[in-house]
Amino acid sequence: MKGADEQFMDRERHKKILEILEKHYKGATTALKYKTPFQLLIATILSAQCTDRQVNKITSKLFQKYPGPEDFARLSPEELEKDIYSCGFYRNKSRNIVKTSQILLKKYGGQVPQSIEELQELPGVGRKTANVVASNAFDMDAIAVDTHVFRVSNRLGLAHAKTPEETERQLMENIPKNKWSKAHHWLIQHGRRVCIARNPKCDQCFLAEYCEYYNRTGSR
Ligand code: SF4
Repeated sequence: MKGADEQFMDRERHKKILEILEKHYKGATTALKYKTPFQLLIATILSAQCTDRQVNKITSKLFQKYPGPEDFARLSPEELEKDIYSCGFYRNKSRNIVKTSQILLKKYGGQVPQSIEELQELPGVGRKTANVVASNAFDMDAIAVDTHVFRVSNRLGLAHAKTPEETERQLMENIPKNKWSKAHHWLIQHGRRVCIARNPKCDQCFLAEYCEYYNRTGSR
């Protein structure tokens, strides 16, 4: 258990990190292209184990062909597979997307539910996907912990966790609620551009002074 002084120092360090991230990545948002909450939901399901760029390539045609849940609900998973085979796990994703569309029509009148708990009950929708949809489509305060957010926040010391769920819980404690959604995008941007997985560019990093990983390893 940390003493009051250490806790104060941690809070000040977190504050500084968030200020700097905001300065560099202000306005960062999701790279996925969509026109409706439903389309964001489908794009996010597709984005598991697939780059946003590849998802956008697929959905630019897919959403013209099938704009809403009623269009997807009529398909067999095998039919949908032909349109999404170029992203990983397309068989599972096809099954989940068709089933999710059918549930949306049956249970929610074709709308995407605005609660993280209800979103998580849909096939193919885990905690991360539910948080992405809630924050981007409905402006709700939520932190989706993907691979970048997990890695960067634990390196920086905004979290000290072994799982995405625990990371999310700690980030919710260490980041003011009104910044949860924005911080998610800032951390993703930093993870893509600077704090990359194998060789973080600590020598170019504007957060090095405040980063636990850097200060522990001297990696520069
Ligand atoms: S100093 Fe290095 S480890 Fe820390 S945030 Fe920057 S790039 Fe990542």
